[in-house]
Amino acid sequence: MIETRPIPAFDDNYIWLLTEPPGRNAVVVDPGNADPVLETLAAEGLQLTAVLVTHHHADHVDGLGELAQAFPGLAIIGPRDLRIQGLTQRVGEGDLISLAGLTGRFTVWEVPGHTATHIAFLRDGCLFCGDTLFAAGCGRVFDSTFDQLSGSLQRIATLDPATNLFCAHEYTLANLGFAGWVEPDNPALRSRARTDAARRTHNLPTIPSDLTLELATNPFLRTGEPSVIAAAERFAGHELQGHAAVFKALRQWKDTEYD
Ligand SMILES: [Zn+2]
Repeated sequence: MIETRPIPAFDDNYIWLLTEPPGRNAVVVDPGNADPVLETLAAEGLQLTAVLVTHHHADHVDGLGELAQAFPGLAIIGPRDLRIQGLTQRVGEGDLISLAGLTGRFTVWEVPGHTATHIAFLRDGCLFCGDTLFAAGCGRVFDSTFDQLSGSLQRIATLDPATNLFCAHEYTLANLGFAGWVEPDNPALRSRARTDAARRTHNLPTIPSDLTLELATNPFLRTGEPSVIAAAERFAGHELQGHAAVFKALRQWKDTEYD
């Protein structure tokens, strides 16, 4: 059974640390900064055997070189994107990955939208989704399209609702604020906002989330709900047909008027 915990980095990143006790090997996901990873590994006597990378942004990859130096032979696995230096293995849709130190295998999903080559790693009811889906929100669209991000989110929505979702940023309270603009009368959203605000008051992470909670509260996964469609249409000023059109209006609304 793998154990997961967040290593906070920068202002609001989480670098996920995966271990499988009683083994002392460890895997991290998206180390944008090596320092907090090295500190955690040293404090706990762990040996880093592999790194998973979801996409090329600096706050997810800038620790790779230092970690590779500290752990010779380190496996560094990421997408087929030449903007990422230092990968030892480039993977794509449907690839199965075994990692030294962890039993079982991860399945790779290509989830374009935040970036064109963004991937996610799925294993035993856990999805490491980088900046594709956030708790109560989703990533911005950079070198990709709104349609692609909508499609990737719709695909995530098909997973077992019990799936735990490990995103890479603590953006939950801000995202819940925008979700409240979209669905002010959603009781699940109000309840979640209370729970997650209490967690943050005690400096606890709100991640991982799970798909059941996201399906009930994340407007970007609720683009088929009449209340969400109506709110998106009010912003767009015209009728919207289909998930992708509703998604695009919501994303543009948040980008231009919320943050
Ligand atoms: Zn990013």
